[in-house]
Amino acid sequence: MNHHAQSLLITGARLIDPATGTDTKTDIALEGGVVAAIGHGLPRGPAQRVIDARGRIVTPGLIDPHVHLREPGNERAETIASGTAAAVSGGFTSLCCMPNTTPTLDNEVMVRFVYERARTTGACRVFPVAAATKGRHGVELAELELMARAGAVGFSDDGDCVASAQMMQRVLVTAKATGRCFMQHCQDHELSRGGVMHAGEVSARLGLGGWPRAAEEVIIDRDVRLNAGVGCAYHVQHMSSGGSVEIIRRARAAGLAVTAEVTPHHLLLTCDAIERSGYDTGYKMNPPLREAGDVALLLEGVADGTITVLGTDHAPHTSESKLVPFDAATFGIVGLETALALYVKALVEPGVIGWPRLIAMMSTEPAALCGLDKATEGFTCGLGRLAVGGPADVTMIDPELAWTIGADDLVGQSGNSPFVGTTVRGRAVLTVVGGVVRHELA
Ligand SMILES: [Zn+2]
Repeated sequence: MNHHAQSLLITGARLIDPATGTDTKTDIALEGGVVAAIGHGLPRGPAQRVIDARGRIVTPGLIDPHVHLREPGNERAETIASGTAAAVSGGFTSLCCMPNTTPTLDNEVMVRFVYERARTTGACRVFPVAAATKGRHGVELAELELMARAGAVGFSDDGDCVASAQMMQRVLVTAKATGRCFMQHCQDHELSRGGVMHAGEVSARLGLGGWPRAAEEVIIDRDVRLNAGVGCAYHVQHMSSGGSVEIIRRARAAGLAVTAEVTPHHLLLTCDAIERSGYDTGYKMNPPLREAGDVALLLEGVADGTITVLGTDHAPHTSESKLVPFDAATFGIVGLETALALYVKALVEPGVIGWPRLIAMMSTEPAALCGLDKATEGFTCGLGRLAVGGPADVTMIDPELAWTIGADDLVGQSGNSPFVGTTVRGRAVLTVVGGVVRHELA
């Protein structure tokens, strides 16, 4: 693959740019890593390549705000190289990586390490989300200001919740001063203790430790209250409970700086799958899969704009860590390669939202959350939009392409996904990062 920015002319595309409300048939020219022109009947000019995009949707590159790259510390599960390869195959041009690595991403040296590794080995842009507390232990505040200056785009102790309310207060105040968001993994550790799946009828019947909805809801409730007087950009990661939606809805209606994210699996699967599959550890998630009523409320939250961000929580695990009894297995699934098609299945096909809103939630909104929408030197705008003079991060999607997710389609280092074998529609056929073609479906 050519790793230099090419001159590309994309013709006849349905261009969707939620940042400007654009949804129109047009041509797009990319030159030297920049969007050079947008308009009907653009001349071929210096283009090295013309791409016929009739019937295709062209969008600002997709941005995943919630990814685990496992490097450093667990390179057998994923690396920055393999995780970004998975990303571009799924249409993502940028991702934000979580700090639960070994060592923890909790200082500016580690922030720089991620940028450096991404620059030398990555297939797309990588933006580190740094830990809010040292070692993610929730005891000692990390150096948020130094990490923000080194390029941390947000803070989170993801994998763990900031348990202490007093520490949480300090985190919100300090993160607010840096201008970066705080992303909470909402899990009350005492309520979820021993829990491996949703606490309900199924967990009782199967004799598995239950993890109640309240473990998520009480943390969101507490944090919204703490943040009311602070005004940090507070973001709820991977929301699972229907009850959480109402808390966020009320907070947003009151004008509070609160956003929330869902994942494909919490919209498409329920805890019944654990029983049906005979305790398949592929269905073991954190937070756990819940019930049909929760899915309905999450979908309502997407439809009415309460939930504004779609993530993957891409969580690669080695097969050994999943080929064990349900109780002992690791939590989570990979998601970068399949998220787009699964969101089409969960949201677009049933008419919950249309394509423009889907692209907003997978690009424009995550860009705003992490401050990636601000123009950097040499560009007229930032990421999450497509404008002349802006960065040439572009995803081309075939919305009609039907495919069955196969093990071979999971190009990252790990293949832990319960969606293998699922038939879906819609796929990224071309991913361009900074004017460089990083993925093209043959
Ligand atoms: Zn998490």
